[in-house]
Amino acid sequence: MKKEILAVGVVLGLILSGCGKQMETAKKYRWDVHDYNRPVPLVVTPGAADNMAPSDATVLFDGNDLSKWVSAGNGSPAKWKVENGYMEAVKGAGDIRTKQAFGDCQLHIEWATPEKVVGSDQGRGNSGVFLMGKYEVQVLDSHNNKTYADGQAGAIYGQKPPLVNVCRPPGVWQSYDIIFHRPVFKDGKVEKKATETILQNGVLIQDNWTIEGTTFYRVRSYYEPHPDKMPLILQDHGNPIRFRNVWIRELKETNQ
Ligand code: MG
Repeated sequence: MKKEILAVGVVLGLILSGCGKQMETAKKYRWDVHDYNRPVPLVVTPGAADNMAPSDATVLFDGNDLSKWVSAGNGSPAKWKVENGYMEAVKGAGDIRTKQAFGDCQLHIEWATPEKVVGSDQGRGNSGVFLMGKYEVQVLDSHNNKTYADGQAGAIYGQKPPLVNVCRPPGVWQSYDIIFHRPVFKDGKVEKKATETILQNGVLIQDNWTIEGTTFYRVRSYYEPHPDKMPLILQDHGNPIRFRNVWIRELKETNQ
C-alpha cells in the first residue's frame, strides 16, 4: 500500500512539475513553439521584379510626375525636371521633400550621376537621400573619384563610410535599398538612436549602423529632437543627378 501511495505521489509530482514548466514557458514566451494560434504574416504581393514596388509600398515616383513632392524650403511645387521616366535635380531649384512624412521604413531608390564627368571630389555628381529630412545617405559619383571616406557614395555623411565601394560608372543606374529605424526621443533627449542598413546595387554597404545624429557639415553630429514622422528629402547640390523608381514601405510593429 505504501508503495502504491508513493507511486501515485511520484506520478502527481511529475504531472505538477510538467504543468509548472508549461506555466513557466507561458510566462517566458508569448507563443508556444509551432503555435497555430500565432498570427501569420500579412500577405504582400511582390513587384514584378525585386526592384519593383510590392503591394504594400507607397510609390513616391513612378517616372511620370512630382505629385508626391514639393520644394523642401517653402512647400511650393517641386521644380526638378521630369523626363524619360526619371526626375533630375535642377541647380538652384533647391531640395525636394515628400508631402507625406515617414518614420521607420524600407526605401528603394535608383539614381544615376551624369554620364559626362564634370568636377571632382564633392563637386562631382553630388546629391543625397535624407531620411526624415535629417539623416543623409550620400549620393556621389564615387567611381574613380577621390574624396574623404565619410563623404563618398553610400556614406552616412560625415559619420560612416560604406563598407565597400560598389559604385557603377557615371551615367549608369544604381540603387539603394535602405532599412531605417527612426530615433526615439523622450523629454527632449534621444532615448534610442536611429539605425540604418543599406544595400547598394544589391551589396551590403551599411550594416545596422547606429546613426550618431543629424547630418551636418564639418560638425560632429548630435541629435536634435523631432517628430516621429518627417518627410524624405532629396538634395539639390548643384549637380544634375537623376532618380527613378522610388518607393517606400512603412515598417510597423506586428502582433507576431
Ligand atoms: Mg550630398
